[in-house]
Amino acid sequence: MAADSTENRIDPEFTAYPLRELAAAALQRAADLGAEHADFRLERIRGQQITLSDGNLETLFDGDDLGLSVRVVRDGTWGFAAAVDLTADAAAAAAAEAVEVAKVAAAMNTERIELAAEPGYGDVEWVSAYDADPFAVSVADKVALLAGWSSGLLAADVVSHVDASLYAVKECKFYCDGDTTALQQRVRVHPALTAVAVADDGRFETMRTLAPPAGRGYEYLTGTGWDFPAELAQIPGLLTEKLAAPTVRPGRYDLVVDPSNLWLTIHESIGHATELDRALGYEAAYAGTSFATPDKLGSLQYGSPVMHVTGDRTTEHGLASVGYDDEGVAAQRWDLITGGVLTGYQLDRRIAQLRGFGRSNGCAFADSPGHMPIQRMANVSLQPAAAGGPATEDLIAGVEDGIYVLGDKSWAIDMQRYNFQFTGQRFYRISGGRLAGQLRDVAYQATTTDFWNSMEAVGGPQTYLLGGAFNCGKGQPGQVAPVSHGCPAALVRNVRILNTAEEST
Ligand SMILES: [Zn+2]
Repeated sequence: MAADSTENRIDPEFTAYPLRELAAAALQRAADLGAEHADFRLERIRGQQITLSDGNLETLFDGDDLGLSVRVVRDGTWGFAAAVDLTADAAAAAAAEAVEVAKVAAAMNTERIELAAEPGYGDVEWVSAYDADPFAVSVADKVALLAGWSSGLLAADVVSHVDASLYAVKECKFYCDGDTTALQQRVRVHPALTAVAVADDGRFETMRTLAPPAGRGYEYLTGTGWDFPAELAQIPGLLTEKLAAPTVRPGRYDLVVDPSNLWLTIHESIGHATELDRALGYEAAYAGTSFATPDKLGSLQYGSPVMHVTGDRTTEHGLASVGYDDEGVAAQRWDLITGGVLTGYQLDRRIAQLRGFGRSNGCAFADSPGHMPIQRMANVSLQPAAAGGPATEDLIAGVEDGIYVLGDKSWAIDMQRYNFQFTGQRFYRISGGRLAGQLRDVAYQATTTDFWNSMEAVGGPQTYLLGGAFNCGKGQPGQVAPVSHGCPAALVRNVRILNTAEEST
């Protein structure tokens, strides 16, 4: 491999831009024009997508997004402007344009914008935890690795087709509001392989690797944090069994949900539901509002007493982890659900001030230099039982007649984050406390509070896995954000199971 050790330093190509000079020009112009707040960002976001079909390169896409932006509050109203010219004149012009936007918007503004106070941190740097910059590895090496994995799968009789993909992102971000000047770099990768089998009767089944996307570098593909060869070696056998598996009989079952599946249920039914802008109805156009409204804070029995959920932007390798958010707020970790009760929300500075929370918990994020930050999801994670807590086998042993669910696939949730349905990659029948072969066509359906209140036990730390996604969508115009969700295995009683094959006919 041609990967260089980066020693976790900020890309010198990025630090070579006159970051502080441009920030000073923008902030000075904003102040001269009467802005009561101004912040400046300069970002370079590199992204690369590689996909292979049956071992042959199908897509190679390189994106490079570079620009600056200025956000102001003037006369209690937001203003924002972005530019691609990286000159002091362009930065100052963007500041002037942002002030003009605020002046025009002031006539329509009904709520004065005020930002929750945050200490200044001076000059700070933060780099995510990774070893090998994926952009320092040649495309030929990446394609060769994915092609080798693909041909290994295709060598099995049961496998008819293989899709392989690798997404990599390197995000360099400079933020300055006069009190805090933050220079940050994040790296993330998402490798995935899907094997397809076709039965004699024409029915087909697929099986995807469970490896989650991670805030790691290229080392993730070469043995750090996931054992791809070991997982790939299991896939032909799992697929053979799935192809021959009986279809599920609909009804109510006890579920043991693997973290490779549960992370997505957390994302949809807790992560989005505890965004305060959504709970207040400020965010409704894209994926709806939330049933978990602020009048229920401190009283809503969201789930059972074993349910403890945190928001955090500090998890090592977390996709939403940062040192400072896009409003200069230091990364934090806090409770969202404590002993099953709703105890917190995800906040940015504006919404924290509006609702009297005192301080933002650092959830502002913009997905490009051309976009204004909005409140985006922290790593929202379900905490495991204490050390010595149950292993997955222990949870399975507690089930007489049930289903063990692994891996995420499709999902649906209503506009209040309340009624949902999830499928998965792999399903096993549980009979008499033991696994009894795979099932297919399984989906589980519940309301958010019924599901989480039926969670009888969570696994110990040894069952914990950090799942997640690169592209959580929100806002209008739409923005995407990467986010991780850690969780243990969980035992959930008496959940409604649908047969997806019957439902679709
Ligand atoms: Zn989402």
